[in-house]
Amino acid sequence: MKFSDYKISPLIKQQLEVMGFNKPTDIQFKAIKHILEGEDVMAVAQTGTGKTAAFAIPVVDKLESRNRKGYKGVRCLVMVPTRELAKQIAGVFQEIAKRTSVKTFGLFGGVEQEQQIRTLNNGIDVLVTTPGRMFDLISQGHLDISKLEFLVLDEADMMLDLGFMKDIQDVIKHIPNKRQTLFFTATISKKIKTLAYSVVRDAIRIQISPKNPVAKNIDHAVAFVEMDDKRFFLENILKEYEDKMFIVFARTKVRVERIVAAMERVNVKTEAMHGGIDQKDRFAIFERFRSGENNVLITTDVAARGIDIPTMDYVINYDLPDDAENYVHRCGRTGRGNKRGQALSFCSESEMELLTAIEEYTGEEIERYEIHKDDYMDILNDSDDGSNNWKKLIDLTNKEDGTEDEW
Ligand code: AMP
Repeated sequence: MKFSDYKISPLIKQQLEVMGFNKPTDIQFKAIKHILEGEDVMAVAQTGTGKTAAFAIPVVDKLESRNRKGYKGVRCLVMVPTRELAKQIAGVFQEIAKRTSVKTFGLFGGVEQEQQIRTLNNGIDVLVTTPGRMFDLISQGHLDISKLEFLVLDEADMMLDLGFMKDIQDVIKHIPNKRQTLFFTATISKKIKTLAYSVVRDAIRIQISPKNPVAKNIDHAVAFVEMDDKRFFLENILKEYEDKMFIVFARTKVRVERIVAAMERVNVKTEAMHGGIDQKDRFAIFERFRSGENNVLITTDVAARGIDIPTMDYVINYDLPDDAENYVHRCGRTGRGNKRGQALSFCSESEMELLTAIEEYTGEEIERYEIHKDDYMDILNDSDDGSNNWKKLIDLTNKEDGTEDEW
């Protein structure tokens, strides 16, 4: 089935063609028809499967075909866990709805409120938001969700992890019982099910690739590299593939900054991303990465989820994630849509337990990337870092890192 066969507005079909969307992905094929029929949906799907368009296409179509009947408030509320995701998902809605009259706005904290209020007053159909700023604006009377038609919860599992349960429950109190609810989560647990069933009604349940959660189009392998040597391996890879796009995940903010500094010493340009960076700067960093101005982003798990950069070539897990689930999310930053992607993890002796936990989670052994002893030594010797105290310094910083856990 192609999008041209769907009973949706020709204005959306034309736009999907421009976007290069001809055939629905699996999740789109399974979800769109039910959403068009007015049913609630509860879907377990990872990012990279095309799940944003799976809800955006039918929601835009229904909003376009229905009359506002004089109502000035928001008609579809999309709740997401992070600001970056709010911005990205609002962008997808805006693109799909480009030729229609449906207006979308991404609302989040960390930016001026006045401009946001003006935009809301002009009338918005779809609001994509993180919880905090939304409640501020509701309590100040600038935001009306009393006649909401659609509630979409995206990355619901991450929202729970970040402690947004109460916010979600509070939103439910502000919106009509008669509404269509679309619930998306990357993983399923007892807690998630309880939340899902408290918001959806007679939902159609959809699950995409439940077995091995790392998408089939991603080749992922692990290389055994000692903690102190990781920098030299990263330097080697980044120099070898200097025109490719890399996202490199490290365990803590401090480690991210140290890797950036270490790469700078050997003349490899990278940028840091973590929760300690100002929101405005975070957007600018993502824009530079998205546009290719910077092609190596060193980050904590703050960028592990949802972020969609279709041209991403490689994911490097400089450190293995503490949470096995995040391995899947990190790998999912590459291999977007139908493209192939590659992910390589550095595993030191002290991280063997984490590797076991990841393999238990994914249900399969991760391919081992064998490095011959001579090649290993060559990589250390080839480093452009000539400072005599360098290895001592790394020893020291890695020891200090043991106390720093936030991202
Ligand atoms: P998502 O899972 O929503 O983050 O989407 C992942 C990527 O797949 C994005 O880059 C989309 O632009 C792309 N995509 C979504 N649906 C389709 C489609 N039907 N055909 C081609 N690419 C798509």
